[in-house]
Amino acid sequence: MTQLALVIDLNVCVGCHACVTSCKEWNTSGTAGYLSDMNPYGKDPTGTFFNRVQTFEVGEYPNTETVHFPKSCLHCEDPPCVPVCPTGASYKRESDGIVLVDSEKCIGCSYCSWACPYGARELDDHSRIMKKCTLCVDRIYDESLPEKERKPACVLACPAEARLFGDVNDPDSEVSIAIRESGGYQLMPEWGTKPANHYLPRHKAKIAIHEDELTRADNPLSKERQKPMPDSRDPTLDETTSW
Ligand code: SF4
Ligand code: SF4
Repeated sequence: MTQLALVIDLNVCVGCHACVTSCKEWNTSGTAGYLSDMNPYGKDPTGTFFNRVQTFEVGEYPNTETVHFPKSCLHCEDPPCVPVCPTGASYKRESDGIVLVDSEKCIGCSYCSWACPYGARELDDHSRIMKKCTLCVDRIYDESLPEKERKPACVLACPAEARLFGDVNDPDSEVSIAIRESGGYQLMPEWGTKPANHYLPRHKAKIAIHEDELTRADNPLSKERQKPMPDSRDPTLDETTSW
C-alpha cells in the first residue's frame, strides 16, 4: 500500500518557519480552511497551525545546542486517532495512507486529540472542528499544477530543502533512500502507532579551526592596518568641523 509521508532532515532545518507560514497560507484558503487566528494582537492569541516548529536547547551550558524540530501530523500507519472517533469523521485513506478529518461529520469532541500521542491535532477555535495536516491533499493531485509543484506547500517553501515528500513504502523513492542511508527514525515508536513521517537525525560535526584560520584573509580591518596611519598631530574630525 502506498504511504505518503514527509521526511525531515534535522541536520538541515534552521527553524526559519517558512514551512509553518506556507502551510498556513495554503491551507487557510484550501479545502481544510480557513485556519482561524483569534485575538492575534491581544494578550492571549491563539491560532490553528497544521505545522509547528518547536525550538529548544539541549545539553548543559556552555555546551548547548539549539534544535529546531518541525512537527505536524505523522500520518501514522496505525493511527489511534481514528478508532476513537464516534462519528467516523477521522479516517485513513487506503489509497495513499493520508489521515484526514471529514469536516461534515466532525462534532469537535476532541477524542482524537486526546488519543494522538504527538499533539498533532488542532481544534479550530472559530469553527470548533478538528483540523490537522492533510499533506496538502488538495494540491498533490492537482493536475492543473506543473508536476514539480504537486508537493505539500511546506516542502516547496523550505529554503534549506530539509523536507522530502514521497511514498515510504516504495523502497526506491527519495524518502525511502534518505531514511535508509541517513538512519531515519520514527517519533516515539514505543506507542506502536507506526508514524509514516520520519526524521533524519542530527550528526555531531567536529570543526577543527587552525590558528591561522581565525584571521580572515579578507578582513577589512587588516587592510585598514596596511594603510599608512594618520599622523597623531593631524587635526581630528571634531576639530575640523567645529566652529
Ligand atoms: Fe493521528 Fe496523531 Fe498519528 Fe496524526 S500523528 S495520524 S493525528 S495519531
Ligand atoms: Fe471525530 Fe471530530 Fe471528535 Fe475528532 S473531534 S473524534 S474527528 S468527531
